[in-house]
Amino acid sequence: MNAPGPSASYRTDTLTFENSFAQLPPAFYTRLMPTPVPSPYLVCASTDAAQLIGLDPAEFTTDDFIQTFAGNRVPSGSIPLAAVYSGHQFGVWAGQLGDGRAILLGDVPGPASGYPTLELQLKGAGLTPYSRMGDGRAVLRSSIREFLCSEALAALGIPTTRALCVVGTDLPVMRETVETGAIATRMSPTFVRFGSFEHWYYKDRKEELKILADYVIDRFYPELRDTPNPYAAFLTEVTRRTARLIAQWQAVGFMHGVMNTDNMSILGLTIDYGPFGFMEAFDAGHICNHSDQQGRYSYRMQPGIGQWNCFALGQALLPLIGTVEDTQAALEPYKAEYQTKLDDLLHAKLGLQTKMPEDGKLVDAAFALLQANHVDFTLFFRRLGSLKIDDAAADEPLRDLVLDRPAFDAWAADYRARLKQENSDDSSRKIAMNAVNPKFVLRNYLAQIAIEKAQDKDFSEIKKLLRVLEKPFDEQPEHESYAQLPPDWASHLEVSCSS
Ligand code: AMP
Ligand code: MG
Repeated sequence: MNAPGPSASYRTDTLTFENSFAQLPPAFYTRLMPTPVPSPYLVCASTDAAQLIGLDPAEFTTDDFIQTFAGNRVPSGSIPLAAVYSGHQFGVWAGQLGDGRAILLGDVPGPASGYPTLELQLKGAGLTPYSRMGDGRAVLRSSIREFLCSEALAALGIPTTRALCVVGTDLPVMRETVETGAIATRMSPTFVRFGSFEHWYYKDRKEELKILADYVIDRFYPELRDTPNPYAAFLTEVTRRTARLIAQWQAVGFMHGVMNTDNMSILGLTIDYGPFGFMEAFDAGHICNHSDQQGRYSYRMQPGIGQWNCFALGQALLPLIGTVEDTQAALEPYKAEYQTKLDDLLHAKLGLQTKMPEDGKLVDAAFALLQANHVDFTLFFRRLGSLKIDDAAADEPLRDLVLDRPAFDAWAADYRARLKQENSDDSSRKIAMNAVNPKFVLRNYLAQIAIEKAQDKDFSEIKKLLRVLEKPFDEQPEHESYAQLPPDWASHLEVSCSS
């Protein structure tokens, strides 16, 4: 973990809240207090996330930090609120949703994040007017998963909301069984979603739609202000970011699991971690969310769904953009942006420095090999980095991952020929490939082990796993066991929308 830098100077009680979102008209949210919980305790906290807001990690163990991020003590200057939004869930218009269990404390300066401020939000902090049938709470299991995966994706260089900490409580929370309650603190420049815009569009409230769009553009896309149609330019920029984000997901085998429009960030960040998963035995049709029977959000569907969601946003922005033609034109770049980004990422994953006309075939053949043999996605690309052009014997650990050895040999021969075409050098290629093909990802079973220990109030495994995931590209030979194939028992693990 990084040592706290000189900027890490704030204490919990000296964080200065700006409450930007609270300055929007009251129609956008409901001001309310988090509901206190009994006997809160620290489960985990991220030093890297704390550094983004200059918070001293020494705070983590203080009573003030724990009470604050349990929702028991509202920090001075914070104007807590729950935001309203709507959305399409599994392709169907769901009407009003909103922060049913999340409470925004407000934004604090976040100089290291690349944005002026970061909002702090408590997830699982109690009932809000948007809780519908829910209890306003979150369980320890899903909070730990969100915490670990936010920080893991950030370390992989994938845009995401961040996780500051998880606080546990003795408050029992009812799901399929009685579970331990928890509050996760997330950080993001904004939590505005595609569904925040859909909300006003479907209510036919153009004024609020414009207020929200102006707020987001002024704060996060100020460079678009001077374009001929800032709303069209805004849609294009969100479309591009979304396309690039999903290309990044595909390239590391990340599956979000619930790509509803209310779970799509207006900044192109990964947001709302639920039944996500990382691809293990490769299957393009893999569905990581047990509740998603149709496979709407399977791995292979993600790019198309990302585009579908951008169209839903486009529909909502149409009254501001003006015409259907301009809206369609603004959405146009999705496919090309996605393809270009994915192509760049896949070239890098294969250690190719140049682009050649036949590369598409080589890539397709690699994926066909992975698919036919259900090869572990992460291990395949990581081990591929150690391939030597003139020494096939060195392929053994890689070849062992593929059941159909002759098929592997045929592909490897084509790959070697391609590497020779650009005079690829084994050692520099390995360094480059290891910088893009992670050795460590948050496999479900790793999270499960950490969760089970945490249920017994042993949080050491979360800490250890976080440390491993913070350096996903490093060899970390002492943590070899975290890079292995999942054990047999992991095949029975199921994650669903229950959280
Ligand atoms: P999700 O698909 O998990 O992002 O949640 C969809 C909607 O349900 C959001 O409006 C959430 O705030 C709300 N929600 C999910 N779980 C709960 C809960 N336990 N209590 C209240 N609202 C919830
Ligand atoms: Mg959500």
